[in-house]
Amino acid sequence: MTTALVWFRRDLRLADNPALAHALAEHEQVIPVYVLTPAESADWAPGAASRVWLHHSLTALARSLAEKGSCLLIRRGEPVAVLRDLLRQSNAEAVYWNRLYEPSEIARAGKVKTALEELGISVRSFNSSLLHEPWTVETKAGQPYRVFTPYWKQLRQRSLPPCQPEPDVLPSVPELDSDTVEDLGLLPEIDWWQDMMTGWVVGEDAAHDRLDQFIENAMSGYAEGRDRPDRADTSRLSPHLHFGELSPRQVWHATLEQMALAGGEQGGETFLKELAWRDFAYHLLYHFPETRDAPLNERFNDFAWRKDPQALQQWQQGNTGLPIVDAGMRELWQTGWMHNRVRMIVASFLTKNLRQHWLEGARWFWDTLVDADLANNTQGWQWTAGCGADAAPFFRIFNPVSQGQRFDPQGRYVRRWVPELAGLPDKYLHAPWQAPEATLRDAGVTLGVSYPQPMVDLKASRQAALEAWAKIKNSK
Ligand code: FAD
Repeated sequence: MTTALVWFRRDLRLADNPALAHALAEHEQVIPVYVLTPAESADWAPGAASRVWLHHSLTALARSLAEKGSCLLIRRGEPVAVLRDLLRQSNAEAVYWNRLYEPSEIARAGKVKTALEELGISVRSFNSSLLHEPWTVETKAGQPYRVFTPYWKQLRQRSLPPCQPEPDVLPSVPELDSDTVEDLGLLPEIDWWQDMMTGWVVGEDAAHDRLDQFIENAMSGYAEGRDRPDRADTSRLSPHLHFGELSPRQVWHATLEQMALAGGEQGGETFLKELAWRDFAYHLLYHFPETRDAPLNERFNDFAWRKDPQALQQWQQGNTGLPIVDAGMRELWQTGWMHNRVRMIVASFLTKNLRQHWLEGARWFWDTLVDADLANNTQGWQWTAGCGADAAPFFRIFNPVSQGQRFDPQGRYVRRWVPELAGLPDKYLHAPWQAPEATLRDAGVTLGVSYPQPMVDLKASRQAALEAWAKIKNSK
């Protein structure tokens, strides 16, 4: 009997999982294993919200494997040592896994491959988490893309292999030592996370339910609705995609099927494009790994960022006095997620109006987002700060008042997350400091007491940001 290990990483699903499918096709006994590894870079060790999601996602995976007759072995430590031990204990002769693309993950998998091949173990890895791997997409000159539109045009023309169904049954697993998911200590001791997870259902089945609901109910309105934080018009698939509870290929094919059924579908096309931004973010991180910590646009190494811990804290706590910014930051804190439009608004406010370093914002998102993803987060922050690939130009400074008025016109989003302003009329909701005294009084708002005064003057802080930009604009 031949035996293989399947090393699960961020591919926590059974369907369309090439490592699992190939191991099952080529071996009689297949042992699924998850290894909680020490963080290679302390700065980007999984944040608190991600760890909570991981706990639930591993629980769901273990349950699905058990239902099919298998079992998830859980171990802690360096993967080389852990996998070597398991290979010895199980007499397995092969290890299968799906690839990841962060610099530390590439290095880790490289070490495992070398060490296992030296022992004569067969090692096979696959793409499961991207539509197209970063090295397969290049410009005519054979260079990586830095601009999204031509990248997207190339991606859109490519075909994808069909998705693989989940296996009906799985071979049983021999008795071997295993930790439990609880042993991994992913949940914080203080149980703040229960509230955060109220609106989420984790795992492969839940991911498919969410995809189906989105396709049925929201996709047709996605092209217009995706910018509206007051509506549930986006898919909220990001944490499921990050942890590999479903594959982008499954999302891509399901979208195309719906578009074919509906006879063309504008929402679907826009949705595919957003999904391609995810691949683009990985493309950038793979080809420019230094962007994890440094701006792609090197001029920004000399930008006059300010260091102001007090301002940073006000932003983190959603106490800036700018309603849409505060709504976003509170949504993030309470749900582990924030709408994309609002991510851009709060990131612009932090990096431009407050001129705090984009990494400060990226680190806060990293700790608080359930979908925290090194490629997407780095790209999102650098794009908004104006220092990344194909970035919004620095002078495009989002005005939180006009953004609020445009994308949350009836104030439903702000009223939900900043309830102390709920009584204000729509006209003043996004700029309460402009409201007459009597209007504030009628709404029960006392600026500086029940809700903060704006922490900066938007016009003056915009001007200061532009002046700082002018100093580096023509350098290098
Ligand atoms: P939908 O609109 O339904 O899109 C479907 C999927 O496409 C998303 O789940 C996501 O995987 C992908 N996608 C959509 N927009 C983008 C985008 N702009 N860039 C990359 N992928 C995209 N996304 C993360 O997954 N993790 C992060 O850590 C993250 N940090 C961000 C930080 C900033 C400052 C900004 C501006 C954006 C960030 N994003 C991040 C991108 C985007 O905001 C989220 O992917 C999106 O809001 C998730 O919601 P959704 O699943 O409803 O998206």
